[in-house]
Amino acid sequence: MIMNWDYIAGFTDGEGSIGFVRGGRDGMYTPPRVTWGQKDRATLEAIKEFLVDHGFHPHFYYVPPNAAKRRPNGIYMMNLQRRDEIQRFCEEIQPRVLLKALPCEKVLQWLKDHPRRYHTAELERALIAEYVEEGYTQAYIALLLGCSDQKIRRVGNKLGIVFPKGGGKIEDGKHIAAMTKAEYLRHRREKEKNLQCVDCGKFIYKGSVRCHSCAMKLRHQTQPESFKGCNIKSVLAVISPSVAQENL
Ligand SMILES: [Zn+2]
Repeated sequence: MIMNWDYIAGFTDGEGSIGFVRGGRDGMYTPPRVTWGQKDRATLEAIKEFLVDHGFHPHFYYVPPNAAKRRPNGIYMMNLQRRDEIQRFCEEIQPRVLLKALPCEKVLQWLKDHPRRYHTAELERALIAEYVEEGYTQAYIALLLGCSDQKIRRVGNKLGIVFPKGGGKIEDGKHIAAMTKAEYLRHRREKEKNLQCVDCGKFIYKGSVRCHSCAMKLRHQTQPESFKGCNIKSVLAVISPSVAQENL
């Protein structure tokens, strides 16, 4: 089989879909996608190979048969998700398709109307990488770029930027010394201490002092009014079992 753009355009016209998919959270439309579905694996794989050779990153997967969804046969699926690749693909096939010419145009228009968000732009990547290289802390980079701390971390991780470990000495927004071992151990001890119930030592969530059951036992001391309607004997049993025995 000779694989070329004409063949792919024709195949997409018949078996493909170009456009927006309703799905995900809130039933929102996803960004544009190019998707193909086919029972026969060979054709899709040949197209995949061609696309990979041309610098695309098609996602290839198999959807097994599902009686509940009235799908008696399994189907091979492939899609393109990266916006620059979708744009390149649509530009390539638009002059060659009949049915999908309008969807192609719609997608290209959408991409033009919705430019890439700034944080994934190349400039931003270079900038963050440069700041990290210079030794600035995550918090300080956030300050320099005017966004939140977590955003720097999130975007950086996505772009494969390696951040130095936190802590240590910081001066003028720069890490000047890493955490020493003693400092690290102390930090970890503190952290672990804060994650234990002060009464029973059980694991608790950050920000609390006691586990739920210890907090319930202590409720009469901290919030006596919340015990107004309850059985006094059981409260006594919690405070002091011997006093409770006498009062029975
Ligand atoms: Zn406890």
